[in-house]
Amino acid sequence: MKTAIITVGKEVLTGKTINTNLTSIAERLHQIGIDVNRSFVIDDEKEEYYKILDFIDEDLIIFTGGLGPTVDDISRETVINYFGVETYIDQNVLKGIKTYFDHINVKMKDTNNKQAFFPKNSIILKNNLGTAPGVIFRANKKTIVLFPGPPHEMLPMLEKLVEYLEKKQKIKLFSKGFKLVGTGEATMEKKMTGFYNLHPNVNIAPYASIGEIKYIFTSNNENDLDSAMGEFYLKFSDYIYGNLEDTLEGVIVDMLNQEKMIISIAESCTGGMLASTITNVSGASEVFKESFVTYSNEAKIQHLGVSLDSLKKHGAVSEQCAFEMANNLYKKTISDITISITGIAGPTGGTKDKPIGLVYFGINYKGDTKTYQKMFNGNRYMIRKRATIFALNLVRKELIEVTNYY
Ligand code: ATP
Ligand code: MG
Repeated sequence: MKTAIITVGKEVLTGKTINTNLTSIAERLHQIGIDVNRSFVIDDEKEEYYKILDFIDEDLIIFTGGLGPTVDDISRETVINYFGVETYIDQNVLKGIKTYFDHINVKMKDTNNKQAFFPKNSIILKNNLGTAPGVIFRANKKTIVLFPGPPHEMLPMLEKLVEYLEKKQKIKLFSKGFKLVGTGEATMEKKMTGFYNLHPNVNIAPYASIGEIKYIFTSNNENDLDSAMGEFYLKFSDYIYGNLEDTLEGVIVDMLNQEKMIISIAESCTGGMLASTITNVSGASEVFKESFVTYSNEAKIQHLGVSLDSLKKHGAVSEQCAFEMANNLYKKTISDITISITGIAGPTGGTKDKPIGLVYFGINYKGDTKTYQKMFNGNRYMIRKRATIFALNLVRKELIEVTNYY
């Protein structure tokens, strides 16, 4: 099925918004065997829509953005009118929008009425997180899809589109995958030499992000898919922390929960990023006791009892400091696991002995503290993010070791 994605909006054209909708949609469709032929970003002007619709000839055309209630949001009426299909106002959607506004104690404006305007025989994509419903409709033998711009509103609708397309496709494709941590893309690809050829009927694709890699397996034969994934698992089980729907922090909170263990955290260069990541998980309160962001030496001394002597001798970015932070945190909080991070995120502050990207970690399990030293590449954000993921992986590995989790 020839497919085009058209993302609408000045904020994308001016670079204010990163076009993540394009990547999310293209990646998800690829998983079900639909590759996007072309993609365009257009301004939200009526003639721009018309010009592009005159120009393209794809069978599946997906728009994102411009479904809101304001005058500059014109995707719905413009695209529907272009195709000249019969339309109606959906009373249920209208009621839903009214309820949405009642819930937040805001009076619904007349301009919201246009969000209930649909082609006859279309599939309405409910929006539980905003007011703009999406839509799938057929016109001129094409499938037209309108999605809202905000990614959190668009993504659940994308799943509905995937369901719709899977039903229509003659060949069903199966797609699953693993998420890995503690290894790099280049290292993995070296280790994967020969693996791809052993599984010609399975498409295996890596997608790397900061500190993590996903491997997505796609095939029309579920047995082939499972056997490729089984072999992959045996080869890389040390790095695999979960399936595509898992998060590293979610896996750790689950493990801690299952073992009835409590974690506490002491951070310097990550400034709370580790604690914040853990609290992404609903139910983290069962396992996460407390966190100290001890950015200054003074705070490290006052709150974690790091000794002035060792700070003077080794500095705050040192194995000794990471050790004392994790060790003293254990004594202070009596948590089953404590973890500490101290390092240099840059872009200033690096020296020859202690370059930017140098980070020390301490991890204490029931009184026994180990330390680790790592060098990370990247800018300030990437170093902090990589340090956070490395710390989470230390916790994961420690839990596997002490509990025989798998
Ligand atoms: P709203 O009701 O919020 O106005 P909308 O469907 O009209 O929704 P837009 O006005 O086009 O959507 O965009 C709203 C916001 O959604 C943008 O400010 C931006 O944050 C996000 N957004 C829009 N397009 C994209 C995109 N292609 N990728 C990622 N985010 C996007
Ligand atoms: Mg808008």
